[in-house]
Amino acid sequence: MRFRRLKLTGFKSFVEPADLRIEPGLTGIVGPNGCGKSNLLEALRWVMGEGSPKSLRGGGMEDVIFAGTAQRPARDFAEVSLLVEDEAEESEVTRRIERGAGSAYRIDGRDVRQKDVSLLFADAATGAHSPALVSQGRIGALISARPAERRQMLEEAAGIAGLHVRRKDAEQKLRATEANLQRLDELLGDQE
Ligand code: ATP
Repeated sequence: MRFRRLKLTGFKSFVEPADLRIEPGLTGIVGPNGCGKSNLLEALRWVMGEGSPKSLRGGGMEDVIFAGTAQRPARDFAEVSLLVEDEAEESEVTRRIERGAGSAYRIDGRDVRQKDVSLLFADAATGAHSPALVSQGRIGALISARPAERRQMLEEAAGIAGLHVRRKDAEQKLRATEANLQRLDELLGDQE
């Protein structure tokens, strides 16, 4: 999977719509302290389904919405879109958050669940927790990680993290089916 384009509106310091093309090869983001370099990386993680406000340096998820400055009023929503290309097929993943209304996700304009977005990226060996996204303090965290955490990172890198989610879903369906079968047996028993 290749990331082709990142679009932001009202996300953290990116109050005006910003549209960034991501060219093949290495991409570097340079700029003075506080200009928003880390915010860009956080926008990438956020659109891929990041659920922890703390890992986006916020107290609550709405903290990603432009909070206003002395000159500009705060915004009511933030939206980030990521255009990706996978085996020559393009798709656009969008996440939007509105004050008081939470997050909504779309893939190519279709409403989807957070889980659908996370699975899309997990299967492509990337995602909000991908080891390819190296934010400040991440190297230290990797070195001091416990074996279980390190295993999780390796599974994400190998693109198998999504299998755990599917296994949990399958187990839940299996339990529901078993309960249905048991109920059916009881009903049949009552009729005999
Ligand atoms: P450094 O080089 O120091 O690490 P950076 O270029 O990575 O800096 P960021 O940390 O991405 O910069 O951006 C910080 C800026 O984003 C600060 O000016 C902060 O006020 C602004 N900012 C963060 N969240 C919001 C928000 N919700 N609304 C408005 N501005 C925000």
